[in-house]
Amino acid sequence: MSDIIRLLPDSVANQIAAGEVIQRPASAVKELMENAVDAGASNIQLIVKDAGKTLIQVIDNGCGMSPTDARLAFERHATSKISKAADLFHIRTMGFRGEALASIASIAHVEVRTRLSDSELGTLLRIEGSKVKEQDSIASPSGTSISVKNLFFNVPARRNFLKSNMAESRHILDEFCKVALAWPQISFSFIENDKTRFQLGPGVLKDRIQRLFGPQFKENLVEVESSTNLLKISGFVGKPDVAKKTRGEQYFLVNRRFIRHPYLHHAVENGFEGLLPEGNFPSYFLFIEIDPERIDVNIHPTKAEVNFQDAQVVYNLVKVAVRQSLGKYSITPSLDFDPEMSVDFPFPSRDRVIKPPSIKVDPNYNPFDVGKRQDWERAYTHPISPAGSVVQPSSFDSLQDDEGFLEQQSELMQVLGRYIISPVKSGLMVIDQHLAHQRILYERFMLSMSSGKGVSQQHLFPQSLDLSPSDASLLNELLPDMHFLGFDISHFGDNSFIINGTPSGMEQENPKNLIENVLEQYKRDMSELKLDSKTSLARSMAKSLAIPYGKRLGNEEMRHLVDELFICAAPETSINGKPLLSIIGIDEMQAMFKKS
Ligand code: ADP
Ligand code: MG
Repeated sequence: MSDIIRLLPDSVANQIAAGEVIQRPASAVKELMENAVDAGASNIQLIVKDAGKTLIQVIDNGCGMSPTDARLAFERHATSKISKAADLFHIRTMGFRGEALASIASIAHVEVRTRLSDSELGTLLRIEGSKVKEQDSIASPSGTSISVKNLFFNVPARRNFLKSNMAESRHILDEFCKVALAWPQISFSFIENDKTRFQLGPGVLKDRIQRLFGPQFKENLVEVESSTNLLKISGFVGKPDVAKKTRGEQYFLVNRRFIRHPYLHHAVENGFEGLLPEGNFPSYFLFIEIDPERIDVNIHPTKAEVNFQDAQVVYNLVKVAVRQSLGKYSITPSLDFDPEMSVDFPFPSRDRVIKPPSIKVDPNYNPFDVGKRQDWERAYTHPISPAGSVVQPSSFDSLQDDEGFLEQQSELMQVLGRYIISPVKSGLMVIDQHLAHQRILYERFMLSMSSGKGVSQQHLFPQSLDLSPSDASLLNELLPDMHFLGFDISHFGDNSFIINGTPSGMEQENPKNLIENVLEQYKRDMSELKLDSKTSLARSMAKSLAIPYGKRLGNEEMRHLVDELFICAAPETSINGKPLLSIIGIDEMQAMFKKS
């Protein structure tokens, strides 16, 4: 048999690499901006049209490239940043894999204009799908301009996979913010569809944060500063009162590279412990400077993750640094900190949210267990008032049962603030109140969006809502559908909105919290489940608004809930596809009393 293995042509190899490095227009934005930073630019301009689908251009005043380098830059594994494997452990630049430009050029039409500052003439280079179409000497400003047009022109699968312009443009904005945050001393501008979205002069981090994420950070940042021989932590955390229901602004930059790191995120949350209202997220902008030898940035194609050699030590240092800063600015009143001692110090605080006392439940408690006979006897003398339950008779007169499912006049009872229990013909039905209400709301919201008939309740005092740029674009994207749900929200300036009305029946909700909650749920759903936006919105609303566990329900409320549940299309299934009710059959009950 003849040999069948052969090396892939470079253009194919580049396209494969592009699949990893360039997933969407925002990925190209990130790579081009990082290259400009690596080139030592003090001024970087990003120009985008059509959410990057038709044009992404980055112009810098950095070192520029010679004609030969300009050509080489588009070869795979061509980089000026490392030359041997050992260099991988000393990386100070943003790039080093030498893949980005080759990848981009394999799936787009690229035009480069570049000039070294001490050369008279610059270079023009045009490449389409890895093929060089033109190389010429031209007059050009010193530095580099790279424009990327028709991204994914030869990869229809990728192109079709792209989201709406609004969604893609939000991703671009996110990338812009990450790079601009990391380098406050560099000027950045961002022009989208001929409109200037940001024009940021060089400055200090604090100003950069406000410019990027909103004026609400003006008064609300607490400086974090901590230095040990292992690492240096600097930056800011948002005061607990700007914490939001939506995940908001959470930035870790390790050697100025934005990373995702759930473990470190946890460290920050831990540093905030006791200061944040339940379910709120802290904002933070933390820079970690660490010897590049002690981290591995080469574990992810877009370098969005790093491994720390001493992850646990880093965790503690971050946690302590955050706690100390919050303490120093007397957000935690008068505590003397000894960093060594403070690691597990429980925080007393004036701002601390006092949780209502919760009822302790022993999940293993079984009144029918012989070993617990005494308890059982006590329960028997007060038959229907176990701790935390409310006994509420109710009826289902309206609910005629076709299949013998529900008995007429059945009693309803709430147990432990979680379950609604009702006798049915075949036994005892247990309904999870939270999941049931999610199902009801979900179906109602889907219906209002498809029929376009949401009823809005106008507010007497419209409220304003300031969001981060990325949440603001998201909300803008969702506004048309939210309108059908009964929200009356108008866009008011860059990242501000006015809430004039909310869906009727939800007047008691705090509209700001509601919207932040919905955005947060929506982001989580979209990243995990890839649903269409209407479904995600209905799910997010349902999750945010469903009756929580622990809420006591009156007789009427329970009856109403059950009635509404059984007119749903899928009354037995939660919106996550799991059962929301269960029946303990007569057989099962009988089995409990059989002698073994
Ligand atoms: P990497 O950044 O990993 O080295 P890239 O493919 O992004 O790989 O870039 C390849 C090379 O092209 C870089 O190492 C650099 O020498 C050069 N280069 C890219 N962009 C610029 C720029 N804006 N200014 C100067 N040189 C650049
Ligand atoms: Mg690069």
